[in-house]
Amino acid sequence: MKANISSQETFTVPHGETRLLLHSCCAPCAGPLIEKMHESGIALTIFFYNPNIHPLKEYNIRKQENIRYAEKLGIPSVDADYDVQNWFARAKGMENAPERGVRCTMCFDMRFLRTALYAHEHGFRVFTSSLGISRWKNMEQINESGVRAAQAYCELTYWTYNWRKDGGGARMYDLAKEEAFYAQQYCGCIYSLRDTNAWREQNGREKIAIGETWYEQKLSESTL
Ligand code: SF4
Repeated sequence: MKANISSQETFTVPHGETRLLLHSCCAPCAGPLIEKMHESGIALTIFFYNPNIHPLKEYNIRKQENIRYAEKLGIPSVDADYDVQNWFARAKGMENAPERGVRCTMCFDMRFLRTALYAHEHGFRVFTSSLGISRWKNMEQINESGVRAAQAYCELTYWTYNWRKDGGGARMYDLAKEEAFYAQQYCGCIYSLRDTNAWREQNGREKIAIGETWYEQKLSESTL
């Protein structure tokens, strides 16, 4: 039998809402949420806005994996801008911040503010994100960013559910295998790729080879 996030309960959107805008960071994280929200009868729209992801090749792969799963379940998805220059402008001075630090707060704030704007403009009263399901992330930091973004519009609520509970974390791995999702090796930005590769080198592991000249150029331009 399939082990869902919770086999007993269905998801219920706050405030009795039936529509939900889900910010998706990637298919492996969003998959178990999408699956159970769909099964719970929630009128779900997936919003892909992740200008943090580098290089473009990696961004397109992660985006296509989202679209593939959404289409399989017949769920609408929105392909938002890849305004990468805007992301870099905001990350200036934070290039060497560690993961879960100030650069990540900026990154969550940027993505959630854009999601909140779309929600406001399209009549959604609740939005949330799959980002918090990953054990590598600080859920409190993510929830704070989400709540902050929702405060931009008086009608809007950020849903701060703990997606890891009731087997959510385990379902993430099982579903990724079942659907053969692309498994990314780093969080997303060029700096997380740099730091992951540095760790790999120190630990005798093979470095992640993206093979994009744009990435190499950006890395040489950064203040390392
Ligand atoms: S490490 Fe991840 S969350 Fe942090 S800034 Fe980079 S992409 Fe964004």
